[in-house]
Amino acid sequence: MRKHTITAIICLAGALVASAVAGASFLAMRKPDVIVNGPGVSEKKMLSDWFPGLKGTPGDTEVYILKGADDGASMLILGGTHPNEPAGHLAAIVYIENVVPKTGTLYVIPRANASGFTANDPQEGAPQRFTIQTPNGPRVFSYGSRATNPVHQWPDPNVYIHASSGQTLSGSETRNLNRGYPGRPDGTLTEKVCYGIVQLIKQQNVTITVDLHEASPEYPVINAIVAHPKAMTLASDTVLGLEMQDIKISLEPSPVNLRGLTHRELGDFTDTLPLLMETANASQGRLRGRTDEALVLTGKDKWYVRAQKLGRLYVPYDEKGHPIEERVGRHVTAIGEILTSWNLEHPEEPLEFENIPGYEDILAKGVGAYLLPAPAK
Ligand SMILES: [Zn+2]
Repeated sequence: MRKHTITAIICLAGALVASAVAGASFLAMRKPDVIVNGPGVSEKKMLSDWFPGLKGTPGDTEVYILKGADDGASMLILGGTHPNEPAGHLAAIVYIENVVPKTGTLYVIPRANASGFTANDPQEGAPQRFTIQTPNGPRVFSYGSRATNPVHQWPDPNVYIHASSGQTLSGSETRNLNRGYPGRPDGTLTEKVCYGIVQLIKQQNVTITVDLHEASPEYPVINAIVAHPKAMTLASDTVLGLEMQDIKISLEPSPVNLRGLTHRELGDFTDTLPLLMETANASQGRLRGRTDEALVLTGKDKWYVRAQKLGRLYVPYDEKGHPIEERVGRHVTAIGEILTSWNLEHPEEPLEFENIPGYEDILAKGVGAYLLPAPAK
């Protein structure tokens, strides 16, 4: 009896220690990453400035405004729609920390689903964060969940019904920001964030919206731009511009029957020209092996090399993998090409940003060369 009591106390103490360590690690994800205001940032606001219903909620998120000296068109960059797609998040941060607008206004939301950055997906074995080395020391970024943290939005329904179309999807998609547009002011937290982003686009009359993503190498829409019909000319000019730089990218029309996505609903419900871009991220794929920080950063995985040899992938894939420099470089450069294409077609309403890092420079120097020193604590 006495021996059993001692065993029980030891087990209980072990469980308490494990819970304390895991709990502290889980709660630490709620601390937002450091993002430094670059030379072009004129103002930092919150999404709740456009939709007060988000104020004080875990869905409220930073909006960086880079306003040029001259009026022109405007662009919104969405990073972190899916917080487990780090190239989109980092490319948005590279714009915030480097770019200087000359004509027109740039809005950047680097953590579109802020709640999704406070947890990561269960049973995926993904790292909670990853480190980018810079000339001024390391910068650490969160590797979050694809969806809103269930602590913030619970329970999931058995079937998720997209509000404006009635389309049905699996229940967990109710927390997927890129299935909730155009959103509802009185909906779920995820729908409220969608609604807030739509309000920003409407109130600021945003000309072009670019939503930055990554996808598994076995997913058919990859190394691609997906465009709403009204953004198709802009997207096809952008693809030609990228091909001239030897960056292979495909162009996909936004499917009419897949609802709730930026490239569909922002085009249908607002005047913005919506584009979505995908790069190849092995760390979110289903065929991957060991999932760690190295996989996030290098994209190297022997199982994907094997899958490529079997013809199962939609992107070229060899031992070199798809490193973060290539993926961030593609997003950063594609946005630059969107601007060039826009300016060729609309010289009367230009959108000119300076200091956009070049693709070859990002490949050669790494993403860290384009991140500013984090302020001392
Ligand atoms: Zn995504």
